[in-house]
Amino acid sequence: MTDIHKSLRNLPGVDHLLELVKQDPRFSSIPRSVVLDSLRQALDRMRKDILAGTHPLITDALFLEQALSLAEEKIKPRLVSVINATGVVLHTNLGRALLCEEALSHITAIAKTYSNLELNLGTGKRGIRYEAVDGLLCELTGAESAIVVNNNAGAVLLALNTLARQREVVVSRGELVEIGGSFRVPDVMEKSGCVLKEVGTTNRTHLRDYETAVGENTALFLKVHTSNYKIEGFTANVALKDLVMLGQKNGIPVMEDLGSGTLIDFSKYGLPHEPTVGDAVRSGAHVVTFSGDKLLGGPQAGIIVGKKENIDQIRKNPLTRALRIDKLTLAALESTLRLYRDEEKAIQDIPTLRMLTLSFDDIVKKADLLFQTIQKAVGPLVDLRFSDMNSRPGGGSFPELDLPTRCVTLRPVNLSVSKLETAMRLSTPAIIGRIEDNQYILDPRTLQDGQETIIASTLARILEKK
Ligand SMILES: *Cc1c(COP(=O)(O)O)cnc(C)c1O
Repeated sequence: MTDIHKSLRNLPGVDHLLELVKQDPRFSSIPRSVVLDSLRQALDRMRKDILAGTHPLITDALFLEQALSLAEEKIKPRLVSVINATGVVLHTNLGRALLCEEALSHITAIAKTYSNLELNLGTGKRGIRYEAVDGLLCELTGAESAIVVNNNAGAVLLALNTLARQREVVVSRGELVEIGGSFRVPDVMEKSGCVLKEVGTTNRTHLRDYETAVGENTALFLKVHTSNYKIEGFTANVALKDLVMLGQKNGIPVMEDLGSGTLIDFSKYGLPHEPTVGDAVRSGAHVVTFSGDKLLGGPQAGIIVGKKENIDQIRKNPLTRALRIDKLTLAALESTLRLYRDEEKAIQDIPTLRMLTLSFDDIVKKADLLFQTIQKAVGPLVDLRFSDMNSRPGGGSFPELDLPTRCVTLRPVNLSVSKLETAMRLSTPAIIGRIEDNQYILDPRTLQDGQETIIASTLARILEKK
């Protein structure tokens, strides 16, 4: 018999291993199905090793050890908190907006009790799910009516499908955007059953371009906020209110997809002016769509506001049911929106707004604290510096805007920068920084209170092991 056969025959049986597991307290809180899976996986691995010609020493203890680490990996949650040290406030890969405390407690309350989600407490009859936010949205934007769906991509799809199915939608060539992932205006148009009618050129589109595109089958003028890029130089585009006037002349409604819609004028807080949802409504748009979890700083949602007639049409579309939001989102959205009644409070309490409007002085304070905490923990093990750089708002808001920030940069003396980046990313909680010019960079803008301590202790764990 060859060594390989002998080794294979020596592999313990699952039943035998299960007996051992029963007596091993380290497995006591792991579900049996997970243990079984892990044992089988460990056996499989060993079998492959043996066939590949490596002959590890096979002991029961070794199997249990392997099975335990596989099982522990399996029972860990997959969706976990991470520390965002990238400075990108609305980081789509890291979950976009952080919710405010008010939203969190509202979610908890609604989640563990019954609620009046679709019951009108006044009449005792069936109520409307969207009533919790409909009034607030109208109050905050000046719109006549509102509805909320799962996300803004859904909102655009639903609005187009309602207002222009099997008919033409006129869009400027400069606004045929692709937003990260797979949201492309022409594709969404096709999925909503509309016919895209492109007008103008990439850099210049005039009112007369829209005008000449109008035909019997024209259902809608669409404007799309160019969220993640900027066309500069020899450019021209048509103001929403001019398009609305042209629409009125021809009996054609106008829709604007604002993407990252904001309810406040950021220019009051030292940022560039972004047209607000209220601006779009005042310009006379029939329908305006925007995200709940971009500049608004709330939960993932697609918000549609506009004229009552158009919103009523949208509510009746069966797609609305397929895209409807759940009660937790509704709770979070209501609480977030309520804060906007007092703008100062909104800026303070909504994490996205707070991080975007942090003064440079405050950033410097956060950077100092981060620097000192790291220095205390691993001072001799790193070359630690400050570097004045830029943060990005992210999430398709404020395209190309740089937010001045002060980063802490470090280079370990005994480990490569890229290995450090990986180790930080794989630690618990994961810490996401970035590498530039062979330095590991931490931007304090997106750090929450107390996270500097976690970063410092994680650095210590990684660097002292070396
Ligand atoms: C982000 C964005 C969308 C998609 O919004 P989601 O809420 O992510 O679905 C659509 N249109 C524009 C212009 C955007 O910026």
